[in-house]
Amino acid sequence: MNTRDPHVLALPPRTQLYIDGFWCSGERGDRLSVVNPSTEETIADVQAGSAADVDCAVQAATRAFEGWRHTSGAERAAYLRAIARGVQARRDHLAALQSLNNGKPLAEAQVDIADVAATFEYYAGLAEQLDDTGEVEVALPSADHRAVIRREPAGVVALIVPWNFPMVTTAWKLAPALAAGCTVVLKPSEVTPLPELELTAIVAESGLPRGVLNVVTGTGAEVGSALAEHPRVAKVSFTGSTAVGKQVMKTAADSVKGVSLELGGKSSIVVFADADLDLAVDLVTGGGFFNAGQMCSATSRVLVERPIAKALTERLAERVTRIVVGDPFAPDVQMGPLTNRAQHERVRRFIERGKADGARLVASGDVPEGPGYFVGPTVFADTPITSALWQEEIFGPVLCVRGFDTEEEAIDMANDTDYGLVGSIVTGDAKRGKRVADRLAAGVVWINAPQLIFPQTSWGGFKQSSVGRELGPFGLAAFQEIKQVLTTISRA
Ligand code: NAD
Repeated sequence: MNTRDPHVLALPPRTQLYIDGFWCSGERGDRLSVVNPSTEETIADVQAGSAADVDCAVQAATRAFEGWRHTSGAERAAYLRAIARGVQARRDHLAALQSLNNGKPLAEAQVDIADVAATFEYYAGLAEQLDDTGEVEVALPSADHRAVIRREPAGVVALIVPWNFPMVTTAWKLAPALAAGCTVVLKPSEVTPLPELELTAIVAESGLPRGVLNVVTGTGAEVGSALAEHPRVAKVSFTGSTAVGKQVMKTAADSVKGVSLELGGKSSIVVFADADLDLAVDLVTGGGFFNAGQMCSATSRVLVERPIAKALTERLAERVTRIVVGDPFAPDVQMGPLTNRAQHERVRRFIERGKADGARLVASGDVPEGPGYFVGPTVFADTPITSALWQEEIFGPVLCVRGFDTEEEAIDMANDTDYGLVGSIVTGDAKRGKRVADRLAAGVVWINAPQLIFPQTSWGGFKQSSVGRELGPFGLAAFQEIKQVLTTISRA
């Protein structure tokens, strides 16, 4: 492994499947290379699971379900809290693995780890509450009958996650699934399995009963589609691209499985002329360049009220020249590489298409010489609305600025997309902030705020960005079935 970080060097990475409480090889023994995006070197080979491995994992989860679903909420909470403590205890190692495999700067990786621990803690609290609220009596217009509504675990669930926030997208699914009493088969992204497998080890050390969590690494085409197809999987919770999400939904339809989908986005940050310009520059750069712009919630459309459009664009250009891009372990680095070769090529193609479409390149940051999937932070102005740069999810550090004259025009431009994940508003007028938030077709709106996401709230979007919601009580409900039990009192 080629890294200077002592936490990574201390331990070899986990590379096996985790099925029925054991680390094991896949039935074929095929392997997938895992690459460090800063150096383009192979850092590990993990098991490439198959449909047969998926079947083994689903059978283990099915056997474990009866026992796990009958544990109390308090018992499940104790496991979730042990996982949160395990994550905290190994935070340096997890953060280093995250930076090594995903390429994000260490400081950003540490934010991820804190989020993972907080998510397990939060759902531990909800699991405990289930002991009181899991069964609720309903008032009936009949004295002869008693009805209760019960919340029961959905069953064996498949969790399929992407590579941009490894462990975080997993925690947002795994913590509520376990809290609800479901058993799980997790498929990490083939691009970033190393931090996910280390998180799996922490879950295993919590003493979770055998078969409650199973992890099958491998490709989407083989492991992912086998999970979406499997008749004993009750529900698929998927985070990834809209194209693959549609495929998962179609496959799941054959066995009428429930699906929760967290998909792509094409979101806007709307900056009004009364905004604090320093705050606006901070929020625009955060929304565009955090995680090298590889965020479903990236606000890659920057809508600026015309009187301040020139000033804001100049300030952004100046900020871009100061963003240090490079080795995620270097303390001064603010932006790492893109996470994989395919994404690197895709983002560079977007930049070339933008130029060809007549968008004006305002700024493009420096990148280190040599290997690594680096793309400098890039700002375009006057991007034609018909350009792919304006229309499609870029998933890289590229911002497109356009001016607007009226509030109405800004809202129309922000909503003019098939997606509807998030929106940001920067304004000195609180009433306007509320008014515009009300009109944005988005599942999350931040007003004068960075992209903070608390586990207590909600996550997901309108239109083609999502089906269902994660986080908060909604995240738990996604893994529950509702059952009513009606009894005739006189005969019971
Ligand atoms: P992707 O859709 O290529 O892959 C996501 C996961 O699905 C991976 O584990 C992959 O192996 C698996 N997969 C691929 N083909 C499959 C198939 N046919 N059946 C089942 N599973 C399959 O996405 P990605 O490139 O890993 O991630 C980037 C995308 O994820 C972006 O579009 C981004 O917007 C989205 N994303 C959304 C959210 C959100 O909360 N809305 C969060 C993070 C990322």
